[in-house]
Amino acid sequence: MIQVLDKRFTAFLSAGSIQERIREMAGQINADYKGKEVTFVVILNGAFMFAGDLLKHIQLDCEIAFVKVSSYKGTESSGRVDEIIGLTNDIADRDVVIVEDIVDTGITMDKIVKILNANGCRSLQIASLLFKPDAFNGKNPPHYTGFSIENKFVVGYGLDYNEHGRNLDAIYQLTD
Ligand code: 5GP
Repeated sequence: MIQVLDKRFTAFLSAGSIQERIREMAGQINADYKGKEVTFVVILNGAFMFAGDLLKHIQLDCEIAFVKVSSYKGTESSGRVDEIIGLTNDIADRDVVIVEDIVDTGITMDKIVKILNANGCRSLQIASLLFKPDAFNGKNPPHYTGFSIENKFVVGYGLDYNEHGRNLDAIYQLTD
């Protein structure tokens, strides 16, 4: 049991099991993209630790881009506009793999996919460490999933609770 700010969390996925699964995911990606050049697009902040460990096991010729997704109120009546900040790599005609920490409802991923597709990439797949199938209501489920988990809030290994807990090497689940 650990405490992060005012909430208590119980051990859920150990550091060892996360590392083991990430090695398997990397092996799958290495096999699927053999002989190809890949651009990995890492979604910050949450995916920083997952990306660091995953990419150490990638043996492909690759570029790695780090982006943030931001929402802001447009000045026009269209309301909320989303953009990807920091994408300096040219992804036109590239095979792209998005590296994300968690796909929950899928709303965020749908927006990311839409924006990246508009940049003309050749192919696009999603690698997400965590996936909550019971919460998912989107169009783009991850192609590479580390762990499918129940619909409960988790923290650690890059995932935060009010910006705390990202440094934990394991993943913890909110107690009921
Ligand atoms: P979605 O748009 O798929 O509903 O949510 C995606 C974002 O919500 C993730 O990138 C993540 O930042 C946040 N999120 C969703 N579920 C969790 C969770 O269980 N723990 C944490 N720390 N963040 C979550």
